[in-house]
Amino acid sequence: MPTELSQLQSQQRLQSLKSLLHQHSAPAAPELIQQNPDGSVQCFACGHRCLVKPGRDGICRVRFNDQGTLKVPFGYVAGIAADPIEKKPFFHVLPGSDALSFGMLGCDFHCGYCQNWVTSQMFRDPHSSAQAKLCTPKQIVDLALQHHAPVIASTYNEPLITSEWAAAVFKEAKPAGLRCVYISNGNATPQVLDYLRPHLDAYKVDLKTFSDRNYRQLGGVLDHVTTTIKMLKQRNLWVEIVTLIVPTFSDDPDDLKRMAAFIASVDPLIPWHITAFHPDYKMKDGYRQTTPDDLAKVHEFGRQAGLKYIYPGNLPGRVGDGENTRCHHCNTTVIQRHGFHVKQNLIKEDGLCPTCQKPLPGIWGNPSGHRDGRIRPIP
Ligand code: SF4
Repeated sequence: MPTELSQLQSQQRLQSLKSLLHQHSAPAAPELIQQNPDGSVQCFACGHRCLVKPGRDGICRVRFNDQGTLKVPFGYVAGIAADPIEKKPFFHVLPGSDALSFGMLGCDFHCGYCQNWVTSQMFRDPHSSAQAKLCTPKQIVDLALQHHAPVIASTYNEPLITSEWAAAVFKEAKPAGLRCVYISNGNATPQVLDYLRPHLDAYKVDLKTFSDRNYRQLGGVLDHVTTTIKMLKQRNLWVEIVTLIVPTFSDDPDDLKRMAAFIASVDPLIPWHITAFHPDYKMKDGYRQTTPDDLAKVHEFGRQAGLKYIYPGNLPGRVGDGENTRCHHCNTTVIQRHGFHVKQNLIKEDGLCPTCQKPLPGIWGNPSGHRDGRIRPIP
C-alpha cells in the first residue's frame, strides 16, 4: 500500500509539473519543424526527428503537439549555478573562468549512469524530484554578469531538445559580451546546428562509446553523434569531446582505438577528455570505478592515433601531468591544472605559446571574470 501511495503521489507530482511546464512553453522555431497537413509535426531539434501527432509528446517528453502546434519548453530553469568551465569540461575555452550554467528538464537519451538524472530523467523516473523555476533570459544573463562569468552554458539536461530557450538566452548574452556554449550528447541535426550557429561559440560532445549496439542501449545512434562532430567542425565551432570510460561498457580497446582514429581524422587538435566513471544512478551495482591505469591505456590509444590534446579526467592528481596542457608545437607546459583548478595559465589573449610563439587551438582571452575555485549554487 505505501508503495502504491508513493506511486500515486509521484504520478500526481509529475502531472502537476507537466501541466505547469505546458503553461510555460512556446511554439517551436519554424526552422526546427515541418508542419504536415494532418496536424502532425516533424521535429528536427534532435537526431530522433520525431513525427509528433496531435496530443502526443516527442521521445524527449518535453516537446509536445498541442492541436497541430509543436510546443517547446520556454521560460524556466531546473538548475542554475556558476561552475568552473573546466567542469563542463572545456579546457581550451577561457581557462580558469566561470560558466553560468543553466538547464531545463528532460533528455532524448536515458543513460543508466547519468549524473544529472534528477533533471534529465524527470519524465521517466518516478524517483526524480526536480523543480522548475520561472525566469527570463535577461535574468539569467544578469546573473552571469553579477557572478563575473564570461561564459553561459546550456547544460544539466540535453540542450538540443530545448534549443529555442537556449537561443533566447544566448541572444541576450551575446550583446553583453558573453561566450555561449552547449554541453550536449551530440544527437543533433543539420537544422538545429544551423539554427544555433549564430549564437554559439563552443560545443562539447559526449562521444559515449564507439559501439552502435551500446549506443542504442542509451537511446542513441553512433552515426548521429559522429556526424554531429563533423558538422560542428564544418560550421567552424570550437569542439571538445568527452568519453566516459565505463569498465565493461565503453572500455573495449578496439572500439577506443577506432574512436581515437575517428576524432583524429576530423581534427587531431580536438581535445579529447577521457574521464573516469564512478558507479552512479542505475549503474551502481556490479560496476567498478575507472582506474588511473585504465585511463593511461586509453591515453596511449589517443596518442598513437595522433591526437595532440588528451586529458584524463575525474581523478585529480592521479594521472601524472595529464591534466596539464602542453603546446603541440614545442611541448611547453602552458596550463597547469588540478581537477577544475587552474594553477597556472601562461597563455595570453593572443593565444600564442609563450615559448615558440605559435598559435594554440582554442578560445583564449583575458576573461573579465575571475574565479575562486568554488562551485556556487545560485538561489
Ligand atoms: S527534440 Fe528530439 S526527441 Fe524531442 S520531439 Fe524533437 S526530435 Fe523528438
